Amino acid sequence: MIDALPEKGVPGEQILAELRELRAGDLPTHGGRLFAYVYDPALDGLDDLARAAHALSAHVNGLDPTAFPSLLAMENALVGAAAKLLGGGPETVGSVTSGGTESLILAVKAARDAHPAIRSPRLVVPATAHAAFAKAAHYLRVELDTVPVHGLTADAEAMAAAITPDTVLIAASAPSYAHGVVDPIPEIAVIAAEHGIRFHVDACFGGWILPYLRRLGADLPGFDLSVPGVTSISVDLHKYAYAPKGVSILLHASEELRRPQYFAYAGWPGYTMINPVISSTRSGGPIAAAYATLRSIGDTGYLELARKTRESVAVLAAAVEATDGVRLYAPAGTSVVCLASDTADTDTDTDDGADAGGADADGADADGADTGGADTGADLFVLADELAARGWHTQPQMAFGDMPPTIHLTVTAAVHATAPDFAADLADAVAAAKARGPVEVPPLPPLTPEMITPELIASLAEGLGLAGGDFTQMATVNSILNAAPPALREALLAGFLSFLQRPAAPFA
Ligand SMILES: *Cc1c(COP(=O)(O)O)cnc(C)c1O
Repeated sequence: MIDALPEKGVPGEQILAELRELRAGDLPTHGGRLFAYVYDPALDGLDDLARAAHALSAHVNGLDPTAFPSLLAMENALVGAAAKLLGGGPETVGSVTSGGTESLILAVKAARDAHPAIRSPRLVVPATAHAAFAKAAHYLRVELDTVPVHGLTADAEAMAAAITPDTVLIAASAPSYAHGVVDPIPEIAVIAAEHGIRFHVDACFGGWILPYLRRLGADLPGFDLSVPGVTSISVDLHKYAYAPKGVSILLHASEELRRPQYFAYAGWPGYTMINPVISSTRSGGPIAAAYATLRSIGDTGYLELARKTRESVAVLAAAVEATDGVRLYAPAGTSVVCLASDTADTDTDTDDGADAGGADADGADADGADTGGADTGADLFVLADELAARGWHTQPQMAFGDMPPTIHLTVTAAVHATAPDFAADLADAVAAAKARGPVEVPPLPPLTPEMITPELIASLAEGLGLAGGDFTQMATVNSILNAAPPALREALLAGFLSFLQRPAAPFA
């Protein structure tokens, strides 16, 4: 059936028909009903343009810009556009990477390698920083110092207190992915500058929309390279620049800051390898597609897309506030709507039952919060399934520290067309979730990460109905994962992904 190496080649028409059939099983990337993973401007003709641009440059190799100057020109244009949008100046330089994770890994690498004498380099981030920082620390053997947040935003004083002589980098988010809130970048920048430490702003998620939201009047702190003390910033073009996947930008405030990002090697008989980024051979396709996307939408186009997004956020947030049983967990001030159960602190918490007081302090709590019994809130994981059954695909987030489980909605311009339909379906889904009540987590033997074997994963997947590839009823699975300590959750999910990732044509 799915055979990547048939004995005889298959006609193109047939292959495309097969691909279309496969794609029909995916979540919808367009249409304003998927609130994670995809970013849709809902602009007629843009997909065709990006596709054509991608095809023109797909076989161009970014390995050597002297052989393919077209790619160098497009990269420099993208970096220039990002620098202009994000407060850069004449000293600003940057690189085009494959995504946010690569941008963050390179920011950490540059900071680490700027201090070869520091034997055990450390990175200070707020607890809400993107997981990609943990991945960077893991890959690069840098120690990660995670500092508790104040409310939902970075606590500048606590971050200052976490700095040691081995700290090579401080980072914060503008905004955070989970809650869509902007950290106090100016305050942290002062601290970084005082200590002479690099400060990276992770604007991977919102870097291409925050400047426009500010132009539209949103009350947001300074967050970009115009803030003294910010030494680098990252922005994903495959997020709010609406480019096809595979393009992010990492900007540095100066060439000197960027220098340790590069890798150069002449100690072999082949070509001298000079790589600014992790990949060596790189397709020109995503870069050309991003270039075409930016040029096609243009500055006023992005302003209009931000306006639509902002209006959609307001409509969705109002729907949450109007619905008994759920509440806004974070202020909906950027492009994220994050909601929690009204009684998340009493009926679904995993450990100490404490509420995330900061969300309330931010004024994000629903007015007139119920004080009644535990039956007033909807179980978030059941609610996510009920929303999915109504065609709204959201992203459940597990409890973390004092924070209850939440549902995350990444809002893009395409949601403008669907947002008015959300309130009725949300009310309906909450009512259904309340009627169903929280999931009864099946009794499991006490597990530790070391006990997670492929056999155990296979039997769990079978028992939970996941082995057949149907992922529409996830409340039980999510409830189990939510109750699992983080290290066990990591082991379970890594085991499950490994279970899924098997060669399609077994050696029979
Ligand atoms: C998406 C995201 C990243 C990681 O980006 P990828 O493109 O998925 O690698 C990093 N930081 C933030 C804030 C993000 O939203």
